Amino acid sequence: MIPNLDWMQHAACAGMDARVFFATGNHARAQVHAAQRVCATCPVAAQCADWAIQTGERWGVWGGMSQHQLRQRRRRFTSRAKTTMTVPKAPVKKREPAQCGTRSGYQKHLREKTEICGPCRQANTDADNRLRRTGTATAAA
Ligand code: SF4
Ligand SMILES: [Zn+2]
Repeated sequence: MIPNLDWMQHAACAGMDARVFFATGNHARAQVHAAQRVCATCPVAAQCADWAIQTGERWGVWGGMSQHQLRQRRRRFTSRAKTTMTVPKAPVKKREPAQCGTRSGYQKHLREKTEICGPCRQANTDADNRLRRTGTATAAA
């Protein structure tokens, strides 16, 4: 779906220095408040907030929310989405035995209390690093 971004034309911040909305450094707090004052006059703040939540914006002021508030909102949004969305059930797959050199291989070692081999240890470290970087343990396509 192509997102409808028409609302951006009506943004109170249109044409403003974007740095106002991406606070950094010592004056971050004052800067966030300055940005929020602009948002308070913005006719499309609700669309802006939805947009930021749906696109996973992590930085800056959106829809009058500081990035901290935005993250809190998103946590609520995603946990609600999980409980209310009807996710089609994946067809039941026969589970392949866990292979060494994969994260499930690593987990199998843990389950069976067998010695964790090098490839499994590596796969688990890789997955952890990915998780830290991207928020998902699945390799990017
Ligand atoms: S709510 Fe704030 S950041 Fe969003 S469009 Fe309006 S002024 Fe810009
Ligand atoms: Zn192994």
